[in-house]
Amino acid sequence: MESQSVDELLPPERMLMGPGPSDVHPRVLQAFSTPPVGHLDPSFVEIMDEVQSLLRTVFQTENEWTIPVSGTGSAAMEAAIANVTEPGDTVLVPGNGYFGDRMAKMVRRAGGEPATVDAPWGEPLPVEAVKDACESHDPAVVCFVHAETSTGVKQPHVSDITGIAHDHGAVVIADTVTSLGGVELAVDDWGIDVAYSAGQKCLSCPPGASPLTLSDRAMAKVTDRDEPVRSWYLDLTELGSYWGEERAYHHTAPVSNVYALREALRIVVEEGLEARWDRHERVAGALRDGVTKMGLSLNTEPAFWLPSLNAVRLPPGVDDGAVIDHLLSEYNLEVAAGLGALSGDILRIGCMGYSAKPENVLTVVAALGDALERQDASVDAAAGLEATRQALTQ
Ligand SMILES: *Cc1c(COP(=O)(O)O)cnc(C)c1O
Repeated sequence: MESQSVDELLPPERMLMGPGPSDVHPRVLQAFSTPPVGHLDPSFVEIMDEVQSLLRTVFQTENEWTIPVSGTGSAAMEAAIANVTEPGDTVLVPGNGYFGDRMAKMVRRAGGEPATVDAPWGEPLPVEAVKDACESHDPAVVCFVHAETSTGVKQPHVSDITGIAHDHGAVVIADTVTSLGGVELAVDDWGIDVAYSAGQKCLSCPPGASPLTLSDRAMAKVTDRDEPVRSWYLDLTELGSYWGEERAYHHTAPVSNVYALREALRIVVEEGLEARWDRHERVAGALRDGVTKMGLSLNTEPAFWLPSLNAVRLPPGVDDGAVIDHLLSEYNLEVAAGLGALSGDILRIGCMGYSAKPENVLTVVAALGDALERQDASVDAAAGLEATRQALTQ
């Protein structure tokens, strides 16, 4: 057998402008490649403390229970749902995007009964609909997606939703996978009981360690359970022995991912939360200006626009797969297709973390204009690029 050269084993270098992963910051890559120590090494225990404290800062919470879950965002999502949901609990899940459906599946596996709060894909959940659903279903848990990566919608009125849920005695779980470190999020001020996220979206880490935070109120529901959590791996009462005072072995932490996450969180804090949200808004705003001046439109109303994920409507007759292939093969640029109800109609262009920078959106707008002109779509590629350039120089 012929041996492969290192070159052949290296994956291509892409510009990651899809719904995640995003480009990893060079400092984070360096941290990721430092030699792992044991998961109970005194030096690692210090790093764990630092990561927990940085996570509290970035989530804007005082929650003691704030940890990185081993695994990707879905692991943190399942940790949230599996721990908080007791058999027989009614759990409200959102129907306005792809991830509500995943939540419902996890609720069922935890022994709960999901009830959907419906809204069209591309719109946020109306506060009234959450209120009606709370009145008719009397849920124990209310879930919503703060930043819906499938539709590019940012859920507004979060405090109203948590207020209604609390009036009904429910615990609130928020999916903040595509908002943490990218758009404004204030877990405590907004009354969110449980929030989970992922490393590879606006934090620009490699996937593998995923932020999770729970209020004392939410944790009380977990510790008062009659029946143990149905997942051993994600059982927070067990994980507490590792992340809490005791520091006892539960499972081996993904040490390298925790190194990476620490560095990524340090970068967020160095930049400053507000400066970071502003950067996402400014850079994604230039992208939005470019695609709209080109003749395209976003799939969301300006009031619900999510800078970290831009859902761009394609003109009729344009083949989304051909556009995506062209961007990848000619520009090494990754964007994604629509999911579910929006499949074939939109492109999903991320603007997350280290990927949210001027040169990236200039490339996206130029490359997209080229791909669309090749399909004879009636767009003005030059006007789009000029609008992006203008927005970035302001
Ligand atoms: C990416 C994503 C997830 C799932 O995260 P994975 O890291 O793919 O497991 C969940 N919710 C939202 C909103 C996401 O964007």
